[in-house]
Amino acid sequence: MKRKLPPTVKQLQKDARRFLWHPFTQMREWEQQPPLIINRGKGALVYDVEGNAYLDGTSSIWVNLHGHRHPTIDQAIRHQLTQIAHSTFLGLSHPPGIQLAKALIQLAPSGLKKVFFSDNGSTAVEIAIKMALQYWQQCPSPQPRKTQFVHLGSAYHGDTVGGMSVSDVELFRKPFAALLFPGHHAVEAPHCYHCPLTLQFPSCQMACLDPLDALLQERHEEIAGVIIEPMVQAVAGIIPSPPGYLTRVQESCRRHHVLLIADEVATGFGRTGRMFACEHESISPDIMAIAKGLTGGYLPLAATLTTDAIYSAFLGAPLEGKTFFHGHSYTGNPLGCAAALANLSIFKTERTLSHVQRRTPKLAVFLKALADDPWVGDIRQCGYMVGIELIQDRQKKTPFPVGDRIGHQVAMAARTLGLLIRPINQTMVLMPPLSATIQELQQMVDILKIAISLVRASKKSEATCSQSP
Ligand SMILES: *Cc1c(COP(=O)(O)O)cnc(C)c1O
Repeated sequence: MKRKLPPTVKQLQKDARRFLWHPFTQMREWEQQPPLIINRGKGALVYDVEGNAYLDGTSSIWVNLHGHRHPTIDQAIRHQLTQIAHSTFLGLSHPPGIQLAKALIQLAPSGLKKVFFSDNGSTAVEIAIKMALQYWQQCPSPQPRKTQFVHLGSAYHGDTVGGMSVSDVELFRKPFAALLFPGHHAVEAPHCYHCPLTLQFPSCQMACLDPLDALLQERHEEIAGVIIEPMVQAVAGIIPSPPGYLTRVQESCRRHHVLLIADEVATGFGRTGRMFACEHESISPDIMAIAKGLTGGYLPLAATLTTDAIYSAFLGAPLEGKTFFHGHSYTGNPLGCAAALANLSIFKTERTLSHVQRRTPKLAVFLKALADDPWVGDIRQCGYMVGIELIQDRQKKTPFPVGDRIGHQVAMAARTLGLLIRPINQTMVLMPPLSATIQELQQMVDILKIAISLVRASKKSEATCSQSP
């Protein structure tokens, strides 16, 4: 193999530094490292422009399911290109959009009957919120005072203003506080959502549910909906909810006539071992947002699913104002829909869910090898969503100082060893593609283990150096 850099790599790196601004990235820190430029992928691997291979431990930020360059999805997009790349969805349909809506309704929790397409998870949530709000103005016995939303502590529902308003990640929201809509309530999340270092399901009495139920009891006349990430709060650091929690949230919502919005953007499409996380407790939300895995990680497409009852409330004469006035230029993009249909077909042909279910306990066994590491404070797993929380002192439960950027350092060390992984604060988030083989899963965990010890070793030698005169 030739290892000589083609001149274009240098040029690309130079231009990347000169022209790009990356999302969720402190660009000053980024500018100090050679930019990693990915130009190919195959299965669970991605390759940079210099030919180095990396295991895709983030599934390209939680979207990829069946691996990169899956022939079925590649082919479906190519075929759709021979038909049409895009045609507006404003009042017009197209075959892949129709077929995909039908397929999604067949898979979705019972009661969901209509599909409203959009482009990304944040918009799918934004649409859910707008739908819920307008529904209460137009439903058979209108309750226009129902304008507020309840979300859980530590929740994340996207970056648009509506999504931010129902999120609870202070760091992301702070500069935009002035824009956030009023009348949203953060309800304390289940006990264990808030104490990631002391997860103890057996001792959980779910006293934590009482604040939600109490709030709905007291304020249901003003509350339009409750939004949750079913089973796992992802951005919070992969925090699973206690068994039975979802069921009780649904009961509270039904009892107090409040809509239940399930944000399955991260958990949908097999991530937790079921097609949708709602299935773990057989709940049926009134509205469900999906995005990330919808196209198997190929193209930006999202959808908001809802019930006939909600849909019907929007029916009326054209000038009656009951129309749902929301849409995007690329709503329901046909290439995206074709990719999504292929994605769903692979779940059948490759029996993806049963593979994930079979490999999940094996992944748990690999992860056990990390539990002995003195820096590993907690390992949380729900299917192929894994959070490995690093901690400075396990006995005293002292976290690392934020300024240490420990998660970032470990991610950088893992990168040099051939694994892409992104931390959320001090939690290493491992989200392998659902197609990752047992060997690849094992390799990902092995590399992470080495990366942690490398960072520890470099910290120790730093400390020794600074002690010496
Ligand atoms: C990623 C995510 C979103 C936002 O989706 P984007 O496609 O990034 O806009 C919303 N909700 C949850 C739970 C997510 O994980």
